[in-house]
Amino acid sequence: MPEDKSDIVVREVQCRTVLNRCSIDDYSLNCYTGCAHACVYCYARFMQRFHPHVEPWGAFVDVKVNAPEALQKQVRKMPPGAVFVSSACDGWQPLEAKWRLTRECCRILLEHGFQVNALTKSALILRDLDIFEGHDAQVGVTVTTLDERMCRLWEPHASPVEARFEVLRRAKEAGLETSIMFGPLLPFLSDSLESISGLMERAAALEVDEIWVDALNPRPKVWESVAALLEGQFPDLTERYRRVLFSQVVRQAYVKGVQERVARAAKRHGLTDRVYGCAS
Ligand code: SF4
Repeated sequence: MPEDKSDIVVREVQCRTVLNRCSIDDYSLNCYTGCAHACVYCYARFMQRFHPHVEPWGAFVDVKVNAPEALQKQVRKMPPGAVFVSSACDGWQPLEAKWRLTRECCRILLEHGFQVNALTKSALILRDLDIFEGHDAQVGVTVTTLDERMCRLWEPHASPVEARFEVLRRAKEAGLETSIMFGPLLPFLSDSLESISGLMERAAALEVDEIWVDALNPRPKVWESVAALLEGQFPDLTERYRRVLFSQVVRQAYVKGVQERVARAAKRHGLTDRVYGCAS
């Protein structure tokens, strides 16, 4: 299970809505603002523009304590569709063990004919396989590297990589569709052909239904935290990352290279027809 951070600032808040239109699926569901997993590359940092906090990303979580009640009102008015859980936090971050908001909201969604597409870095989702079973639900995990040490650096409070693979194994065993997001692949650290092939090998062994791949993106607020980690741990890579993220020419060549390696690795493991997204 993910580590429970006691130094995190937790606020209980009320929300009017919890289900929003979304570009990934028809809707997204977020029962929390903020995420204690504190991934260094987290794209959801942009949320602080709309929900300013004095604490840095990863050090605060607002708990939308009335999320199930708000959702009950929304599902009566909104047409059923596919719901991505979650787009701006991890719905199964440590606080969910106590609050059970994502669980209850997924239950409501499924009961009202919505499809749930869960994506997490937390083994806590194993608790909720019972509500997904027999419904239109997909269980997915994100993995950026097989290297647990690297994972601790970049995703300090998420579940260990092996625990995430265990989620896929148990979800498959429960008869659920599964997916895996390999991303963002870490430039020069987890994006070599051998690294990608190692990830694909695990996906093949687990018979994962959908595989998504993403390259690191220069999303707002991401560079500062990535650069700080690189300076401390991999100073030789700082300039190379800067160019991959911000030089258009370098980026295009980089993404093309990743796409080629992904295609080769997928072919090697017989997964070509299951790779649905490939970098960007
Ligand atoms: S688990 Fe997802 S939302 Fe949470 S910090 Fe990591 S990338 Fe961001």
